[in-house]
Amino acid sequence: MTTAIKTAVKDLKGRLDDKVCIVTGAGSGIGFESAVLFASQGARVVCADIDLTAAQKTVERIKDVIGPIHLSKHAIAIKVDVAKEEDVRHLVENTVKSFGRLDVIFNNAGIMHPHDEGVNTDEKVWDLTMNINLKGVWWGCKYAIEQFKKQDKDKAKKSGGSIINTASFVGLIGSATPCIAYTASKGAVIALSRELAVTHARDGIRVNALCPGPLNTPLLQTFLDTEEKKQRRLVHVPIGRFGEAIEQAYAALFLASDESSFVTGVDFKVDGGLTAAYVTPE
Ligand code: NAD
Repeated sequence: MTTAIKTAVKDLKGRLDDKVCIVTGAGSGIGFESAVLFASQGARVVCADIDLTAAQKTVERIKDVIGPIHLSKHAIAIKVDVAKEEDVRHLVENTVKSFGRLDVIFNNAGIMHPHDEGVNTDEKVWDLTMNINLKGVWWGCKYAIEQFKKQDKDKAKKSGGSIINTASFVGLIGSATPCIAYTASKGAVIALSRELAVTHARDGIRVNALCPGPLNTPLLQTFLDTEEKKQRRLVHVPIGRFGEAIEQAYAALFLASDESSFVTGVDFKVDGGLTAAYVTPE
């Protein structure tokens, strides 16, 4: 084994050692798996969710994974509605109060409303979706960037802060099973992330958009209640199955860690080949 590989293998054990990370939507799906994975890699994690009980369960799971240490030094749960500016401002403030700094924010919370359909979608559904999926990401970016800029940059680690915003494959390609507000919100998350990546690159801040394919999480599977509905989607996925939340968490871990120190402004697709496909294998 070369020295470089030995060093890499050693480093892969604590890929987020000493980093303080906020994960929104940490009570379920991608956010749950990411919070647990980040903690297992040495991060101190703030599990933020509108459902405080769910966020607390994530903290309990972290306790199971990292062992019987003083948990409040490693993970805490905070109730937040990401659509509310004050909630997100307090989230960042409380993170800094608890752990002294902020290194990573994973703006992941999102909804897909059951009455989000085509052009006739109700305005209330549109506004709610935009407020959570897009404005929530904006607030998260705004207060994280403000905090990152106050901190000393750890130049040795080449990191002035990492922002990961969960978008979706529907922000990149159109779907004939419409959810117009959701799609518009995710396209905007990709555009916002790209622009912030460029405007804050010289501050050492990285901003990337995670673009998951269709997953086995409550957000999507609640809607796919028949085999026909599942197959209508799966035919378009070259890998031929729904993704798992943990597969998104591994991608988020890379984007959160210093391994991705030269990656910014990217639409990071983790979609089973969906956005690359014209015709899929039989
Ligand atoms: P999920 O429903 O399993 O988890 C979402 C979490 O966000 C829940 O714990 C929920 O309580 C929380 N949340 C909802 N509204 C909130 C708010 N206003 N403030 C704070 N927390 C709130 O969903 P998931 O599949 O893990 O999705 C996570 C992200 O991934 C979302 O942004 C979603 O749009 C995106 N995504 C999901 C899929 C998929 O197929 N599941 C595909 C592409 C993108």
